[in-house]
Amino acid sequence: MRLQPIRVLCFHQVSDAFDESYMERGDWLRTDVFKQRIEGLQQEGYVFISLPEAQEKMKRDRIRCKKYVVLTADDGWATLRNVLPWLNEQQIPVTLFLNPAYLDGKHYRDSEKEEYLTEVEVRNLHKQYPLVTVGSHGWDHVAATRQTEDEFRESIKRAKTYLSELPNYIPYYAYTWGWRNAKTNGILAEDGMMQVNMDGEMNYNDHNVIHRELLI
Ligand SMILES: [Zn+2]
Repeated sequence: MRLQPIRVLCFHQVSDAFDESYMERGDWLRTDVFKQRIEGLQQEGYVFISLPEAQEKMKRDRIRCKKYVVLTADDGWATLRNVLPWLNEQQIPVTLFLNPAYLDGKHYRDSEKEEYLTEVEVRNLHKQYPLVTVGSHGWDHVAATRQTEDEFRESIKRAKTYLSELPNYIPYYAYTWGWRNAKTNGILAEDGMMQVNMDGEMNYNDHNVIHRELLI
């Protein structure tokens, strides 16, 4: 018997039609393809669990025979509305990594159509979707490595102050654009935040980091 890795997948936008004004090809899946990918993993024997459950298993399991997978979504796009009801029906947990700065309609791309979940939606997620948890993607969508140490600390703190009021908040931080270094990792650890990378790797029993793969 050998230890099975836990896979943590990340997606961004899911919709029926691609719109180049505010979507990126690599970050978008058609709704039916998204569902096929999820069902395909289930057919391969993967069981969907939440991110905190995955972390518990990584701390505890010395041998893990079952195949587990975790679903996460970055940025909090309004197109999540196309999949959250379906994921809920399927009883599939998902962690959303949000930038609180954009929940009031502000944009970081130049498209009128760019739209995120609203503050009201985010505050009510736990009622509508009990399997949804919320983590931090920073206050706004700026890479940690492009900020000064003070700016990075401030961004984490501001996001945490906002998000930790939500009953489904978990202290996990998904690096914006995936950019990170030893210093930013250290700041997260000091702050009690679990670092969530986008490095294409799978998770074995590492206690200090969550590795992710893009769902494609
Ligand atoms: Zn992002």
